[in-house]
Amino acid sequence: MTGKIYISAVLFLLLFISCGRGVKQAGGDEQAAVPSWAIAIHGGAGVITRERLSAEAEAEYRGVLGQALDTGCAILGRGGSSLDAVEGVIRIMEDSPLFNAGKGAVFTHEGRNEMDAAIMDGSNLAAGAVAGVTDIKNPITAARMVMTSSPHVMMAGKGASLFAAEKGVEIVDPSYFYTEERYQQLRKTIDNVKHGTVGCVALDRAGNLAAGTSTGGMTNKQYNRIGDSPIIGAGTYANNNSCAVSATGHGEYFIRYTVAHDISSLIQYKELSLDSAASLVVNYKLREAGGTGGVIAVDCRGNVSMPFNCEGMYRGYARSDGQRGIYIFADEREGL
Ligand code: ASP
Repeated sequence: MTGKIYISAVLFLLLFISCGRGVKQAGGDEQAAVPSWAIAIHGGAGVITRERLSAEAEAEYRGVLGQALDTGCAILGRGGSSLDAVEGVIRIMEDSPLFNAGKGAVFTHEGRNEMDAAIMDGSNLAAGAVAGVTDIKNPITAARMVMTSSPHVMMAGKGASLFAAEKGVEIVDPSYFYTEERYQQLRKTIDNVKHGTVGCVALDRAGNLAAGTSTGGMTNKQYNRIGDSPIIGAGTYANNNSCAVSATGHGEYFIRYTVAHDISSLIQYKELSLDSAASLVVNYKLREAGGTGGVIAVDCRGNVSMPFNCEGMYRGYARSDGQRGIYIFADEREGL
């Protein structure tokens, strides 16, 4: 026991020292000129390997990730807000059957689709979320409506749908979310869990950070289980004083370890760099606990970090200085 604590302390110290030297981040040296905007996206993390992903599927994923990134870049490039970029990007991924959000949402044990989403404004800590919704075409838009047009932060189930409908958010028949592939996943992995979620974090020209996450949760989930994605501080968090974070992975761990807020706190209170804070939480704290997954994060200086502790994560980033990349597999981290 004492040995374990000692090893942990040494590991922490080593990581901390390396943080102090300034870890290289996506987008280059932290000392470099601050870009006027930056954006990062993810489309879920998990057992994503070259053996499991056909060349065609890989091309499709890269295509939609690229389209989502382009949309975010266009919004931020013309001076749009980080909130608009986050919502716009996530809507594209929600409309794609490739990702476990909106149209591609996974199935519950009962053979339904129950979705969660959240959005947060780093400029004032306003936040909105919906959980367990079954008929809202774009849950991220409903989440934003909760943030901007209600006194609440989170709404669930039928009440959330009613509210969304009253505010003019598009409602669809639950059969819209049926995709054969996801249904087969439920049938094949009845004793298993599957990951996948979409998220976006952005810094706009005005210096405001925003984060958003949208998901169908985990395949085979039961009893109206709700994951980390709609929980502010767990799967989604944004604060102009620190960073914006969107997570993907085994939600129960992200909730228990308040992952997104933990990363923010390490920056705000301990002055760790973005990459040091995100890596510490994902690759050390979460990994040691057995929680698989990853995060995307951006800070007010346009630094981007995208650590994950599993085989792969659909991810990408772009900045006003022209830096851009789309990645899927773990070994692509070298390119950052
Ligand atoms: N974090 C999501 C959840 O637990 C799932 C995922 O990201 O794949 O609901």
